[in-house]
Amino acid sequence: MKRLVLMGAGHAHLIVLQHLRKSRLQGVELIVVTPSRWQYYSGMIPGWIAGHYGIEQCRIEVEPLVTAAGGKLMMGSVVAVMADHNQIRLADGQIMSYDFLSIDVGAKTDLTSLTGYAGQVISIKPLEDFHQQWQQFAASGNLAEKRLVIMGGGAAGVELAMAVAHAGQQAVTGAPHMTLITGSQGLLPDFGQCMRRLTSRQLARYGIDVVELRATGAGQVLSLSDGRSLVADLVMAVTGSVPFSFLSDCGLETDDSGFVLVNARHQSTSHPKVFAAGDVCARTDQALSRSGVHAVRAGPVLAANLMAAMEGGSLAAFKPRTHTLYLIACGDKTATGSYGPFAVAGKWVWALKDRIDRGFVSGFPRRLEK
Ligand SMILES: Cc1cc2nc3c(=O)[nH]c(=O)nc-3n(C[C@H](O)[C@H](O)[C@H](O)COP(=O)(O)OP(=O)(O)OC[C@H]3O[C@@H](n4cnc5c(N)ncnc54)[C@H](O)[C@@H]3O)c2cc1C
Repeated sequence: MKRLVLMGAGHAHLIVLQHLRKSRLQGVELIVVTPSRWQYYSGMIPGWIAGHYGIEQCRIEVEPLVTAAGGKLMMGSVVAVMADHNQIRLADGQIMSYDFLSIDVGAKTDLTSLTGYAGQVISIKPLEDFHQQWQQFAASGNLAEKRLVIMGGGAAGVELAMAVAHAGQQAVTGAPHMTLITGSQGLLPDFGQCMRRLTSRQLARYGIDVVELRATGAGQVLSLSDGRSLVADLVMAVTGSVPFSFLSDCGLETDDSGFVLVNARHQSTSHPKVFAAGDVCARTDQALSRSGVHAVRAGPVLAANLMAAMEGGSLAAFKPRTHTLYLIACGDKTATGSYGPFAVAGKWVWALKDRIDRGFVSGFPRRLEK
């Protein structure tokens, strides 16, 4: 019997498991290794902070899905991949062999600029830790007296800033004083001008200070690249992604940053029995932005390729669309959206986002909370 190990229950693997649920693998032992009982759906986390969702609406329980796909769930973190030996090692020391391995562990928050910072920081990834830490901070006293700095001017940082501001406006205590530090690239560097303009209007409505400078942590303060410094009660780090360090010496070919290199079929360029999708990988044929949309869309092709690889069939390429619809929640049940150079804003954009997000999460088998 061949063994297929899915490492991480990230967005692409959720889709793989949905496919394996429908077409069960014959003669294959399926094992899913993940450290958390839940896979958090990042797109709804700002809505949870804003008070529109309960946390159980924003996460998918992994075990029912694995069971439905005929697999076995193993709770744990992979700390090493020995690709030359077809093995992985878990944090508890257990070594597991595989015939085929698929990696979808995402990436971690890049905390380089905060290395010298001694104040309180919570990073957005992993989301399961962020969820707990934000809850503790939000319950830790009068928010209106706190200074919150959100570092990161990408879509996630912007959404989180507006979610916190909206939640604060609804609370008796009021919102914290908020600064969004975008870095020298400015607000939403991966988006068109129209989307940037629409979204910055929304930020202005909340009175969020947007600082388009680089910041580095130094002791108890954040030093800005123009020489000023900022003091914060909490820094929320949404500063982009870096790969997990254990991937750098796992035998797999990686790019200069340490992301697993894959071809268009999402197969490792150095080890054909290893596949990777989502934020953990870098494609050799084209640069793909690290987003949930790409991870989810790669899922069906990854599922087909894993099945074909085990049966000796031919593999297909995942062809990402040229433009993708991105929707940014603006806290108060409005949203901005962009598709290529076009951008829109309004309540209907939120309604669309809400429908897509709820639809995604509710598509997975559920079990009642224990
Ligand atoms: C607030 C926020 C909002 C976002 N909104 C959007 C959006 O609207 N649209 C969009 O396209 N993108 C969005 N993104 C980006 C999106 O979250 C990521 O690109 C997406 O999660 C990547 O999916 P993934 O499958 O690569 O990894 P993840 O979703 O990060 O999943 C990785 C999984 O691997 C597990 N894992 C981690 N380490 C290990 C290990 N060592 N061993 C085993 N398992 C492990 C984790 O527990 C997790 O279950 C958002 C991000 C944030 C932070």
